[in-house]
Amino acid sequence: MISQRACRSCRFITNLPKCPLCASETSREWQGYLVVLDPEKSEIAQKMGIKTAGRYALRVK
Ligand SMILES: [Zn+2]
Repeated sequence: MISQRACRSCRFITNLPKCPLCASETSREWQGYLVVLDPEKSEIAQKMGIKTAGRYALRVK
């Protein structure tokens, strides 16, 4: 988990310095995460505006 980063914009979790989804900067400082398997069937994903399956941070600093 230590090397994982989260996008400051869409909160997608990745190990890249830039988000592969929206190209925003990613941060090492984030807390908690949500696994989205099927964004179209997940109410939380829809509330968060998530359209791609993956792991998303709940909070990003
Ligand atoms: Zn992003």
